[in-house]
Amino acid sequence: MAEKRDYYEVLGVNKNATAEEIKKAYRKKAIQYHPDKNPGDKEAEEKFKEAAEAYEVLSNPDKKARYDQFGFAGVGGAAGQGGATFTNMEDIFSQFGDLFESWGMGGFSDMFSGGSRYGDRRQRVNRGTDLRVKVHMTLEEINTGVEKKIKVKKLVPCEHCHGKGSADGSDGETCPTCHGTGRVIRQQRGIFGMMQTQSPCPTCNGEGKVIKNKCPYCSGEGVVSGEETISFKIPAGVTGGMQIPIQGKGNAAPHGGVNGDLLVLIEEEEHKDLERHGNDLVYNLLLDMPTAVLGGQVQIPTLTGDVKITITPGTQPGKILRMRGKGLPIIDQYARQYGTGDLLINVGVYIPEHLSKDEKKLIEQLQTSPNIEPGGKEKKSFFQNLFG
Ligand SMILES: [Zn+2]
Ligand SMILES: [Zn+2]
Repeated sequence: MAEKRDYYEVLGVNKNATAEEIKKAYRKKAIQYHPDKNPGDKEAEEKFKEAAEAYEVLSNPDKKARYDQFGFAGVGGAAGQGGATFTNMEDIFSQFGDLFESWGMGGFSDMFSGGSRYGDRRQRVNRGTDLRVKVHMTLEEINTGVEKKIKVKKLVPCEHCHGKGSADGSDGETCPTCHGTGRVIRQQRGIFGMMQTQSPCPTCNGEGKVIKNKCPYCSGEGVVSGEETISFKIPAGVTGGMQIPIQGKGNAAPHGGVNGDLLVLIEEEEHKDLERHGNDLVYNLLLDMPTAVLGGQVQIPTLTGDVKITITPGTQPGKILRMRGKGLPIIDQYARQYGTGDLLINVGVYIPEHLSKDEKKLIEQLQTSPNIEPGGKEKKSFFQNLFG
């Protein structure tokens, strides 16, 4: 697949565009690349899909916010997992058909009736509900990215009726209430006179079809409780709280519709030695007094194993040492790495609390030594300054 383009760029709007501007921009693209206008044109079809995907995210305040913050990783377009990409035209028409109709572009009832290559789109396509799972990740896993395999309980198509819900394997009969449109139109008297309102047909729940001879295994639903083991990739550099949608891995829809998504919420596990601060890691190093004074070598834990560093003589507590590139991957909105954070070593010095007689003697001897006083012996101490 070609490299993904920024959603704002796809629609040709800037980041501050209003919902109305985004809708208008999408309308323009949808008309331009509409399959009716570009029959058999693969490139137009790709552009049509690309625009639909961009609009699907930017028209949803929740998804838009995640995209603005995390880019594709926030809405599941992260590398190698498909994400929110529309893979076929049916999904687009099932999702935006009403919108196209409201624009007078002809919804699927006009456009795709009579055996078009997209099938008869008069019936509304059911969509399964989304599933949510939490995935715990260690900092080591976040550092490298990881492939996770989880077993989820979910609705799966009934194998007896192949998801159709009918005992004889048929598609069901045209709903007598709505005559297959899935919608009922009501006349209502309002302040502007007679108004027409549309709502989903109560008899068929908007599906346009009813099943008379129901499959006994799924009670005509076409779906049953089951489970699936799902593998997916989580890119390196993710952050706790990010939600990664795995498209089509949620609950199956009744009567052979489109699957919902699996939404993977990233939870970060605490590391025993390292704290995460954005892309940087912090290690609190506590030196013993002699090493701080005389210098020496100490072991520093990193995500890829311990590393020895040299402490220079006279290292002060509060000093920050920086190990470049030993932090976490820094990713852009396409989940591509463009840098690496640092490991910051926050140096402290341990002052002993309990001393033996001999140790105490040693320290007392040091106390009178000229180099022990902070800043040299000419300087007054804090208390001398305060009272003197
Ligand atoms: Zn069944
Ligand atoms: Zn109906």
